[in-house]
Amino acid sequence: MSFVLAGKRVYVAGHRGMVGQALVRRLASEDCEIQTAPREIDLRDQAAVRTWFSANAPEVVIVAAARVGGIKANDSRPAEFLYDNLMIEANIIEAARQHGCRKLLFLGSSCIYPRMAPQPIREDSLLTGPLEPTNQWYAVAKIAGIMLCQSYRRQYGCDFISAMPTNLYGPGDNYDPDGSHVVPALIRKASTAKANGDAALTVWGTGTPLREFMHVSDLADGCVFLLEHYSAEGHVNVGSGREIAIADLARLIAGIVGFAGRVEFDASKPDGTPRKIMDGTMMADMGWAPRIDLRDGLADALEDYRARFE
Ligand code: GDP
Repeated sequence: MSFVLAGKRVYVAGHRGMVGQALVRRLASEDCEIQTAPREIDLRDQAAVRTWFSANAPEVVIVAAARVGGIKANDSRPAEFLYDNLMIEANIIEAARQHGCRKLLFLGSSCIYPRMAPQPIREDSLLTGPLEPTNQWYAVAKIAGIMLCQSYRRQYGCDFISAMPTNLYGPGDNYDPDGSHVVPALIRKASTAKANGDAALTVWGTGTPLREFMHVSDLADGCVFLLEHYSAEGHVNVGSGREIAIADLARLIAGIVGFAGRVEFDASKPDGTPRKIMDGTMMADMGWAPRIDLRDGLADALEDYRARFE
């Protein structure tokens, strides 16, 4: 089975975010017409989304728009993480149906899975146990998005699919100290500590949690692959298959940044899920693999950080 993107109007919802930017870069080599909506369109506003779809008639939609953030942002702004994400996905998915879109790819994240899911996490672990409390609001919204795609497929015959990326990093990331994920947070902390000549940088938590990381360009490539080759109800994990302890990640980033001081741990900050790595068998069996290794990917992310902030 193969779906052709060439010649089609492809709407990237959330093109200003890290994932959306990577999708726009990747789609540039697909000979399709890339569509983006202006900043004024509030995707939480159903009427605005409908009007935009009427005017622009996308044939393919990628839902990369979301309220996203790291452990602190999720935990302290639960209503925004739940409401905004529910509204964004419901509005886009329904508008895509109403306007007869040929294909839609919904993006979630690995935090949809139960906190204690067996590792590596298989797609069928979904809804088999309680969620990680620090990001359950975002997770519930994203699970609803997967089920929207499934229900639209069953009831309306829409070719709507879902992909669940692992923890991502790369150009265009959010470096806000309170809202960011761990990679951009540590790039910023190490860069600042180096610039200030600090003796140490502080990592949240114990440093023992294990996380899998993937460069966002690999995700964008996986998304194009899925649009072209996948059409079924089940959501698909997209990961790198490589995990690292947060303490080792911190030392790796410190090395790449050139910060020679100590790495300290603040155990009063939450660790979150103890281990989170996804099973990538579905993608591998279809013939897709990521290409960017962690060290090269982090160097690329650092270059982006320096270009934007230094
Ligand atoms: P998570 O994967 O949903 O837990 O989200 P994060 O990327 O925010 O955090 C991953 C892990 O990195 C958690 O164990 C955090 O406690 C840890 N961590 C260490 N230092 C930092 C930091 O400065 N910012 C963030 N966001 N996480 C950090």
